[in-house]
Amino acid sequence: KAQRRKKPDWLRVKLPIGPSYKKVRNLVDEYNLHTICQSGNCPNMGECWGAGTATFMILGNTCTRSCSFCAVKTGRPPEYDEDEPRRVAEAIDLMQVKHAVITSVNRDERKDRGAEIWYQTVRAIKERTPEVTIETLIPDVRATWDALERMISAGQEVVSHNMETVEALYRKVRPQAKYKRSLEQIQRTKDYGKRTKSGIMVGLGETDEQVFQTMDDLVAHGCDVLTIGQYLQPTKMHLDVVEFVHPDKFAEYKEVGLAKGFAFVESSPLVRSSYHAERHL
Ligand code: SF4
Ligand code: SF4
Repeated sequence: KAQRRKKPDWLRVKLPIGPSYKKVRNLVDEYNLHTICQSGNCPNMGECWGAGTATFMILGNTCTRSCSFCAVKTGRPPEYDEDEPRRVAEAIDLMQVKHAVITSVNRDERKDRGAEIWYQTVRAIKERTPEVTIETLIPDVRATWDALERMISAGQEVVSHNMETVEALYRKVRPQAKYKRSLEQIQRTKDYGKRTKSGIMVGLGETDEQVFQTMDDLVAHGCDVLTIGQYLQPTKMHLDVVEFVHPDKFAEYKEVGLAKGFAFVESSPLVRSSYHAERHL
């Protein structure tokens, strides 16, 4: 088991304060919405919320899966909240964001994998604020390809699906997912004509070779944008950090990724999938 060490300086972040932060916080509460920023204890909340942006997590805040890096609670999710698309669209309007990122929990218990609410949410945003561009960070649909098509056919500009880690660590990190199935999901999203994006965390014990292989696999499956960030343990119940990867290594990953053919690589310790997402259009 890896030793618990103090976080290095490069992971220190600004505290969340200021009027924009409060405005976002109030909207999230008032509209009874969930954000992955809060659920995932994201270190960038000070920056993102301070700039008036957040990533909404739809389909409730209870996930059917139990990925060992993730702080979202596992259990039986609630019924569909049919009004959620409207509330998300209204909150995005009031936040005056130019680019919105939406994600969701997994809804494996539903045949449509949550696709209907996904579709309605993107449509509601596009109808209310047509000028807002949208990234949808979608879950693994478990090869339910008609659900995938419904999810990605609502007019969003970017569709992301995170690999999260290298293939060798899937059982440990993402036990209910399959590496090749996620790659296929990205390929099908690309074939549908969407800008595609994926992300991995490092510091879980992966080797450089495994990271490079994941890059090759993603490029071969039509992935346009890659994000790489440091894994941080949300609670002591979650996977240990094996390594705090040095910023120089992140810079190297970026260089290698661009050489391998990604249109854009965002790679540094505090990068999260939705960090600086407006740059990935
Ligand atoms: Fe939220 Fe993403 Fe920003 Fe983190 S990086 S605070 S999850 S929008
Ligand atoms: Fe967390 Fe997503 Fe895994 Fe659910 S599927 S546990 S929300 S990472």
